[in-house]
Amino acid sequence: MLRLAIIGRPNVGKSTLFNRLTGKKLAIVDDRPGITRDWQRAKATLYDLDFEIIDTAGLEETFNDSIEGRMRQQTEHALKNADVILMVIDGRDGVMPMDRHFADWIRRQDVPVILAANKCDTKAAKSGIYEAFELGLGEPIGLSAEHGLGFSDLHEALEPHVRAADEKAAALALKNEGFINKDDALESDDEEFQNFDEDSGVGYGDLEEDPEEAEKPIKIAIVGRPNVGKSTLVNALLGEQRMMTGPEAGITRDAVSIPWEYDDRKLTLVDTAGMRKRAKVVDAMERDMVGDALRAIRLAQVVVLVLDSNQALERQDLTIADHVIREGRALVIAMNKWDEVDDRQEILDNLDYKLDTSLPQVKRIPVVTMSALHKTRLDTLMRRVFDIYDLWNKRVPTARLNRWLEMMVSHHPPPLTQGRPNKIRYMTQIKARPPSFAVWVSRPKALPETYEKYLVNGLRDDFDMPGVPIRLSLRTTKNPYHKK
Ligand code: GDP
Ligand code: GDP
Repeated sequence: MLRLAIIGRPNVGKSTLFNRLTGKKLAIVDDRPGITRDWQRAKATLYDLDFEIIDTAGLEETFNDSIEGRMRQQTEHALKNADVILMVIDGRDGVMPMDRHFADWIRRQDVPVILAANKCDTKAAKSGIYEAFELGLGEPIGLSAEHGLGFSDLHEALEPHVRAADEKAAALALKNEGFINKDDALESDDEEFQNFDEDSGVGYGDLEEDPEEAEKPIKIAIVGRPNVGKSTLVNALLGEQRMMTGPEAGITRDAVSIPWEYDDRKLTLVDTAGMRKRAKVVDAMERDMVGDALRAIRLAQVVVLVLDSNQALERQDLTIADHVIREGRALVIAMNKWDEVDDRQEILDNLDYKLDTSLPQVKRIPVVTMSALHKTRLDTLMRRVFDIYDLWNKRVPTARLNRWLEMMVSHHPPPLTQGRPNKIRYMTQIKARPPSFAVWVSRPKALPETYEKYLVNGLRDDFDMPGVPIRLSLRTTKNPYHKK
């Protein structure tokens, strides 16, 4: 099982994070100075991931030492015992000299590091995230341990490591049973880590599409209100009666995660239908439906939101759609039961209008009219799923981006701040899934939100990424290629 160590200065929120991931309060074992601390390990879960956290967080109270001394102890212990280190800084404070000192040390070690800027529930933390890039530990994750924000990004960063550790353990177990030799096991493990480094966007510059990534199954979730036809759709797609369907809302079904192929492409269907078991009362079910969908969305890459074309788009549908976009997943809307609809144009116009006004942050979300019951336009639906998945994985070369940026800025320069131009200097794509870009600006805080929207919508139109959530982060102008 993967062992994670959380390190960082006192008060950045390590214990809060520890508690959230383990569901436990940190136990201080012995607080007398000079007594060797009995290091604890605690089982932790993050959505579908199981791992262990080495408890280094209580250390500050244990040693009557300087902060630096305590941090050194903590870090040494982490380096010796952990598979992955989670370095936490306080996003509100930004990067402190002590953070830099320890980041320099950790960076030289041969252990994967995930960097998190905590307390991102406050506005002041935004600039802390940008500063954290300076530590050279890759893309920082904005977290709020206290309010539970940013955990899907943490999940994304941790997942390949947990998977690699589990595979390594499985391979070693097989090896011990004499099935395979150890070298094979370790080799595949290394590959995982290489993929991870690329994926996490460590360093700058262009990254090519990873051919192995293309081979991995697309994780897809089918969500929607009760009775819109989700199970019918799943059955139609899988071509067999995997799930029960019926007119009765809230029928008991099992949760499934089904490996599946469509048109020679691999998929995994994430389905949390089992959650519906609890839902007996309509009221409870409505509430549960959202929670259920939210869980599936976190595990998925592409989310198909199924609507009943006979019913108006409701607030719940929009809540789910909005959540898909916020989580950075790709969204496809399936207008099911199209066979029952009379005034088709009116329904589509209505939907367009609602999406435009309620989800303005993503333009041109793909909508497919279809019938699960009659198995019509399933092909179209799946083509949209594959298309949007490919776009979601898209990487735009830096040179093209910067030519584009120059054009955008000369068309419409950002407003002056205190009489001086707010210069936009450089742009690069820091990761895909979803496409995320960083822009270097002389005064990020002064750049109006409308300008960010102008850039995001421009990216979507000019690089053809309809319906894909696009992330943009602003950084101060220090050129990333400049040596200090
Ligand atoms: P540690 O010393 O690194 O273990 O830090 P703690 O977990 O004890 O947290 C230090 C303080 O920061 C506590 O008062 C927490 O309530 C607070 N804190 C922790 N996480 C967050 C967060 O995400 N947002 C905010 N605003 N405060 C936090
Ligand atoms: P779920 O609760 O979202 O999983 O919905 P079900 O798949 O159980 O479907 C609810 C009802 O809608 C069932 O009676 C289905 O036969 C019906 N249904 C599903 N898809 C369609 C469709 O495309 N057209 C029509 N007319 N009925 C459908």
